[in-house]
Amino acid sequence: ISRSKVTVIGSGNWGSVAAKLIASNTLRLGSFHDEVRMWVFEETLPSGDKLSDVINATNENVKYLPGIKLGKNVVADPDLENAVKDANMLVFVTPHQFMEAICKGLVGKIKTDAEAISLVKGMEVKMEGPHMISTLISEQLGVNCSVLMGANIANEIAQEKFSEATVGYRQNREAAEKWVQLFNTPYFNVTAVQDVEGVELCGTLKNVVAIAAGFVDGLEMGNNTKAAIMRLGLREMKAFSKLLFPSVKDSTFFESCGVADLITTCLGGRNRKVAEAFAKNGGKRSFDELEKEMLQGQKLQGVSTASEVYEVLSHRGWFELFPLFSVVHEICIGRLPPSAIVQYREHKSRSS
Ligand code: NAD
Ligand code: 13P
Repeated sequence: ISRSKVTVIGSGNWGSVAAKLIASNTLRLGSFHDEVRMWVFEETLPSGDKLSDVINATNENVKYLPGIKLGKNVVADPDLENAVKDANMLVFVTPHQFMEAICKGLVGKIKTDAEAISLVKGMEVKMEGPHMISTLISEQLGVNCSVLMGANIANEIAQEKFSEATVGYRQNREAAEKWVQLFNTPYFNVTAVQDVEGVELCGTLKNVVAIAAGFVDGLEMGNNTKAAIMRLGLREMKAFSKLLFPSVKDSTFFESCGVADLITTCLGGRNRKVAEAFAKNGGKRSFDELEKEMLQGQKLQGVSTASEVYEVLSHRGWFELFPLFSVVHEICIGRLPPSAIVQYREHKSRSS
């Protein structure tokens, strides 16, 4: 039988953990080649060494996941074309703002029968309207693309603490099962659902709600307020997803990709953390500045997603339907103060 070859495209915080999870399974399961290639966006470390060389020498991503061994069968490769050339399973996991350029670089370079999965939480807004990252991958590269999202703070999974995740697939159940096999471990419990848009929109939109939760933390408003913001946010996530894609299922919001990811990100994610600092500083220091200072090269997704969502709301005349999503963006760009995160509710309830 032919064994599937896996390449992970991305090697940040979650990308490195994904490579570790996958590598433990390719060693164990006969249907996969042992070696897992991991494409590294090359950079030079303060020591003068190249990141990919250090990963291969130490088996550790010293910049984005220090202290964790990835598995000896993970091979870091800074050459994108070389990294994908033999792969029939492509795992995309980079911050969403880089995906368009990566896809452009891959046109004509991948195997025609390759299957893809996106772990990327985010979307692109084009003239024609919003584009999910899985759609970008499918359209640009002509491959079927599933998604994997869930309550998955990477550093916790790196330490093999139990969590769950959701694979969303379009039609190809067999491909979805293969992805489940590749990711599932005793501490990482993966379920597949036939709702690619629902799963991907959950993972994408919860980052906007996490920014709101961070504002609430920065303003020290307490747990009830934060729970209220999470509830209102979940309601907007569901309404937005269903307006864009009527096929989105209610049940998806109860999977790990839905309510569970929302909770973990609002409690312990990077979006929450940086938004808390933003509110503590009264909005006087920009997200860009705080991200650089606090995340050591890791990237926030929620601020740009809030802006992308705002663009969709503006094109479609939906501001009234999504007051939380709208106000998050207006706070991020400094048009409103962080305290507006709850004031918009007070105004609304007075006027209705
Ligand atoms: P990250 O936040 O650690 O981002 C850093 C990565 O971006 C590094 O690999 C860096 O080399 C790369 N990078 C920087 N500039 C680049 C460029 N110009 N082109 C290409 N790559 C560049 O990344 P991550 O945590 O692996 O997140 C990837 C995706 O996974 C995001 O959509 C995120 O929302 C999602 N996700 C993250 C977590 C988590 O806990 N970290 C969990 C679940 C999902
Ligand atoms: P942050 O990017 O806010 O850390 O969220 C990570 C995540 O997506 C957890 O599932």
